[in-house]
Amino acid sequence: MQTCIYLDNNATTKVDPEVVEAMLPYLSESYGNPSSMHTFGGQVGKAVKQARQKVAALIGADDSEIIFTSCGTEGDNAAIRAALQAQPDKRHIVTTQVEHPAVLNVCKQLETQGYSVTYLSVNRQGQIDLDELAASMTGNTALVTIMYANNETGVVFPIEQIGLRVKEYGAIFHVDAVQAVGKIPLNMKTSTVDMLTLSGHKLHAPKGIGALYVRRGTRFRPLLVGGHQERGRRAGTENVPGIVALGKAAEIELAHLATTTKKQKQLRDRLEKTLLATIPDCEVNGDRKNRLPNTTNIGFKYIEGEAILLSLNQFGICASSGSACTSGSLEPSHVLRSMGLPYTILHGSIRFSLSRYTTDAEVDTVLAVMPGIVERLRALSPFNNDQADWLQGREEALVNG
Ligand code: PLP
Repeated sequence: MQTCIYLDNNATTKVDPEVVEAMLPYLSESYGNPSSMHTFGGQVGKAVKQARQKVAALIGADDSEIIFTSCGTEGDNAAIRAALQAQPDKRHIVTTQVEHPAVLNVCKQLETQGYSVTYLSVNRQGQIDLDELAASMTGNTALVTIMYANNETGVVFPIEQIGLRVKEYGAIFHVDAVQAVGKIPLNMKTSTVDMLTLSGHKLHAPKGIGALYVRRGTRFRPLLVGGHQERGRRAGTENVPGIVALGKAAEIELAHLATTTKKQKQLRDRLEKTLLATIPDCEVNGDRKNRLPNTTNIGFKYIEGEAILLSLNQFGICASSGSACTSGSLEPSHVLRSMGLPYTILHGSIRFSLSRYTTDAEVDTVLAVMPGIVERLRALSPFNNDQADWLQGREEALVNG
């Protein structure tokens, strides 16, 4: 397998070798069913219990409040459905325009089933307006589901301030913290959050394992119905290797959170500041003060993000752009679009997301190649600055009718 400079850690992360080591016995000799009465299975059950305690410790929860899931998407789906089923008389949901599809598409589906959904807007910094949130809440609001940190920009929402408003209306507060867990210290004991989703593959555990925190006392109906696993809250024989892996990953994150995030922030800031200083016509997308320590999203005007990615790929550098190539057309990201960014930035945005494995030398390599890549692509670009301004004006005219 080719090695690379991996700066796409909001997409997924490298599995920590210690995590691999911890899970291996549960893929070989320790294959018992954790629900079995015999000692062979009981030992496996004990490993699941310890993993639950470690995941709970990472977010300041009680282990009885942790439900293991298959991924972040399942956690989001389960939380949203459970919150609605617990309050069948209420038919309104509040979320934001910049959620991950794991939340947005569930909300869209619920709209076809008779629910009304408010999609809160964001400003140019990617932040929501707490007054708009307050104005959207009614006695009919069952659920507020808002992400902790945005996967594309890293922008962090003021979750506890949001939670206080949600509680005034007696709604359930679900937070998609898939990008926040392991990057920001969390403490559910002092939080207003009722349910919180996390995903293993974003914190150096493998894909296929996640967890949902459900505050004790929160009414919960399972998404998957069947056996009595997870105290009847998520049926299906447990993914023991994945659970053990997530426990180990959580333990490592908790032990090193302060130091690793400080190092990542220093590297991210150096990368960002130097790119801004050495490349003309580029800017950071999103609130730079309230942001994950590992993420920077930078818009390079007048060129396509995908062209930058392909050029970076030739140097063995992995990053990601804000666009999704769907049906042959390059749709700009819904997140950057919601922020009202100009056309020229929307199409030329790149996300670099670091991890505790990112080194100074890797950042140096990116800094060495990026100015040349941008210069070359701009020279090839069909748009000079005047054309880009014309395009921007045309788009605004279309938007404004
Ligand atoms: N929520 C956010 C904010 C994410 O970034 C992601 C994955 O990128 C998900 C949910 C979905 O998580 P998973 O890939 O584990 O289903």
